[in-house]
Amino acid sequence: MQIPKEAERAISLLEQKGHEAFVVGGCVRDSLLGRAPNDWDVTTSALPDEVAECFSDFRLVETGRRHGTLTVLVDGMPLEITTYRNDGVYLDHRHPVEVTFSKTLDEDLARRDFTVNAMAYHPRRGIVDLFGGREDLAARRIRCVGDPVTRFREDGLRILRALRFAAVLGFSLESETAKAVHAERSLLSFIAPERIREEFCKLICGVNAPAILREFSDVIGEFLPELAACVGFAQNSKYHCYDVFEHTLVALSHARRDLPVRLAVLLHDVGKPLCYTEDEEGGHFKGHGPVGTELTERILRRLRFDRKTAETVTKLVERHDHITPAEEKEVKRLMQKLSDEEILALVEVQRCDRLAHAKGYDEPPTSLAELPLLVKRIREKDACLSLKTLAVSGDDLLSLGYPEGREIGRTLSALLDAVLDERLPNDRDALLAEARLIIRGDAD
Ligand code: ATP
Ligand code: MG
Repeated sequence: MQIPKEAERAISLLEQKGHEAFVVGGCVRDSLLGRAPNDWDVTTSALPDEVAECFSDFRLVETGRRHGTLTVLVDGMPLEITTYRNDGVYLDHRHPVEVTFSKTLDEDLARRDFTVNAMAYHPRRGIVDLFGGREDLAARRIRCVGDPVTRFREDGLRILRALRFAAVLGFSLESETAKAVHAERSLLSFIAPERIREEFCKLICGVNAPAILREFSDVIGEFLPELAACVGFAQNSKYHCYDVFEHTLVALSHARRDLPVRLAVLLHDVGKPLCYTEDEEGGHFKGHGPVGTELTERILRRLRFDRKTAETVTKLVERHDHITPAEEKEVKRLMQKLSDEEILALVEVQRCDRLAHAKGYDEPPTSLAELPLLVKRIREKDACLSLKTLAVSGDDLLSLGYPEGREIGRTLSALLDAVLDERLPNDRDALLAEARLIIRGDAD
C-alpha cells in the first residue's frame, strides 16, 4: 500500500512523542481497491491535547475535539487525526452518550461500521485487519463489524451508509447485514434529514445505485414514501414496458454522474401514482408533471437541500416532459428560464427518460442532441436574451413621449419578444421605430 508522505510525516511526528498512529478507514479500503481515497484519516493513541501539542507548529482546525478529532494541515494536506475511541452506549439510535477515549487500536477498529471500513495501516507494521475486511473486499460485500441489528440500533444512519457503500463501490450486502437493513429500516426516522441527504446523494451517484435502490426500495421508502409509491405501479401503456419505479431505475442507469441530473431522473415521474386514469386505450398520467414538481419541491425541502440544487432539480422535473424543438427561437426562450448548465442537465434527463421507454419509443429525438450546439451558437452570437441587453431602454421610451408607468414595461417586453422571435433585429433604430408605432397604436 502507498500512503502520501504527508500522512507518513504525521504518523512519525506522533510516534516521536511516544504515541501510536495509523491511517484508517476509507483511505485503507480505497487504496486496497485501487481507488483514489477522498481523504486520509489518522487514528492515534494520543489524546486530543497531545495531538495538538505534536502539531503545535502546524495549522490546526478544530473539527470536534470533544469527539477526539483535530484536522491538521501538513504541507498543504488536511489530515483528520482522531484519538482511539470507544463509543460506549448510544442514545436515540444516533448519538453515543459519551465518547470515551481508548488505549487500543483494537477497540477503535471495533467501533467502526463495516469490516471494509475497519482496517488500519502503518508503513512498517502493515495492515491491521481484525474483522476480515480484506476477505470482504475480495468478495465485494458490505458486512457490519459485529451483530448487524445491534450496530444499526446504536446508530440508524449505518443502515443508509451500508447501501451507500454498496452503491458506490459496486458491492452487495452480506446476507445477515442485508436482513438487518430491511428489518431495522424504521430506525432511519431517528436520523436528522441532513445526514440522510448526505448519504442518499452519494448513494444515487454510485455505479450500482439502480440495483441497490431496487433491492432496498422499502428502506428508501422510509424517507421517500413518494418514490416507494411508484414501486410496482403498472403503466398499462404501449409506450412503457416497466412499472413506474422500474422505469425510473432504468432511466437512472443511463444517467451521467451528476447530482442534479440523478435527483431529477429519480424524481421525474414521482407524480404519476397520483395522476393515473384509464380509458379504452390504456393508462394515462395527465398532469403528472406539475404534481411531480410539487412533490419534488416538498421532498427537497424536507431533506434540507440547498436552494440552488432544489431550484435546478425542480425545474428539471417540471420540464422533463417538454422537449424543446431545435429552433433558435424556442431555445432562446428556454435560455431565459434555465442556465446553460441546466439546459444540458435537462437534455440529459430527457435522454435517460426516453431510453427507459418500450422498444420502438426509446430513441431520444434528434433535436435533443442538437440543443447543446444551439445554446453554444446563441451564446457565441451574444444574442439578446433579456431586457438588460436589449438595444433600447425605458429612458429611450420616455424620450419618445411614453408616459411613466406600466406602458413602458409592457412595450419593452413586446420589443424583447420581437427580438427573441427574430421579427426585429436588436438594433436601436429599428426598435425605436417599432416603439413609435406601438405608442401610436399602429403596431400589429
Ligand atoms: P468516504 O470515501 O466517503 O470518505 P469513508 O469510509 O472515509 O468514506 P467517512 O464517513 O468519511 O467514510 O467515515 C470515516 C470512517 O469512520 C469510516 O471508514 C468508518 O470507519 C468510520 N465511521 C464513519 N461513520 C461511522 C458510523 N456512523 N458508525 C461507525 N463508524 C463510522
Ligand atoms: Mg472519509
